[in-house]
Amino acid sequence: MRRLSRLFKNVECIRLMGGEPLLHPQVSSFFAVTRRCFPDADIRLVTNGLLLSTMEPAFWWSCTTYRIRIDVTLYPIALDTDRIRGLADSHQVPLRIIETTEFHAGMNLRGDSEPAQAMRYCRAHNYCPFLKEGRIYPCVRPAVVGYFNRAFNTSIPTAGYLDIHERTATGWKILEFLEKPCEACRYCPYEYRYFPWGRSTKQLEEWCITDDELRAAGQVSCEGPGFTGTDVPLSAGLGEQH
Ligand code: SF4
Repeated sequence: MRRLSRLFKNVECIRLMGGEPLLHPQVSSFFAVTRRCFPDADIRLVTNGLLLSTMEPAFWWSCTTYRIRIDVTLYPIALDTDRIRGLADSHQVPLRIIETTEFHAGMNLRGDSEPAQAMRYCRAHNYCPFLKEGRIYPCVRPAVVGYFNRAFNTSIPTAGYLDIHERTATGWKILEFLEKPCEACRYCPYEYRYFPWGRSTKQLEEWCITDDELRAAGQVSCEGPGFTGTDVPLSAGLGEQH
């Protein structure tokens, strides 16, 4: 955060995310550091809210003291939102509850997407550069896809980052970097498939776009068998795995 604040004085919004950030035993310590480095930023904790009603008073005190807003992504589960709103109100912590009823599948396991086109599609939906362990990524995907690779024995590239601690890193260089597609973009389709939120079956196909869906979106450039939703991924063994 300190390094980031030296590179950028005008970050408007910082979202503290996970996984699920409330699982971190020292989640509040991030509030102090972030606020010290960015006194004027809109700092938000993004959570599924499941643990909010169990948080200690010290957590709420930190939210108030360091002016942290809370964004709850509300899935269709039984969550006592009245209690959560009550807790937030009593500590004067701004709280936003965002109802979410669908997920999207956004993985093209062929790895043959044209990166700039894939990036145009995702950027039309959101712009959310991701900072993890001193590395900044154009989005969350290359930062966390290593977990996916381990779970499904795929090899989607994880190397699309810039180390903000490099001596040569400047704010302008980082902004330029964030506008360029990375290798992982080859694994993003030109269109996502949306489906209703539900319990995961932990199958690869939940995440992936099939060849039929790629064709419907005007994609599929390479020949040969592809991903039908039931077979092994073509991308296994390609790219870089961390
Ligand atoms: S990997 Fe590239 S195309 Fe995919 S979400 Fe990230 S920036 Fe967008």
